[in-house]
Amino acid sequence: MDERGIVLACSACGTRNRVPFGKAARCGKCGAALPDPAEPVDVPSASAFDALVGASRLPVVVDFWAPWCGPCRMVAPELARVAASNAGRYVVVKVNTDAIPELGDRFSIRSIPTMAVFDGGREVARTAGARPAAQIEAFVKQAAGR
Ligand SMILES: [Zn+2]
Repeated sequence: MDERGIVLACSACGTRNRVPFGKAARCGKCGAALPDPAEPVDVPSASAFDALVGASRLPVVVDFWAPWCGPCRMVAPELARVAASNAGRYVVVKVNTDAIPELGDRFSIRSIPTMAVFDGGREVARTAGARPAAQIEAFVKQAAGR
């Protein structure tokens, strides 16, 4: 993903398409409807984060993490499961607070992993600590109603 959208591979022909945030889209090559993201998406910059959160038609679940954090590594496969089972309900993204300290500072992230839910461009809930997929899903459901 970048400031302009998320890059998704077409499930019909494999072509990679950039889908603008907030839009459902069709493959530029074969016209098939592109799937919603089914795996956690790495956020490359604060500006890309702002573009996504500001325009997403789906709630955005953000995992604030860092490579040296053991519990973050434990939660990674759980988040992958959550993203796979909830494609089209919400988007799961990962923010490396070492790589983008600006976001960690802005949201006052004091411990990692911290998971936050953004809906309609603003943060609606957050929770700290690693947890299994089912508990992450319950947290998002309570926060975003999906
Ligand atoms: Zn295609």
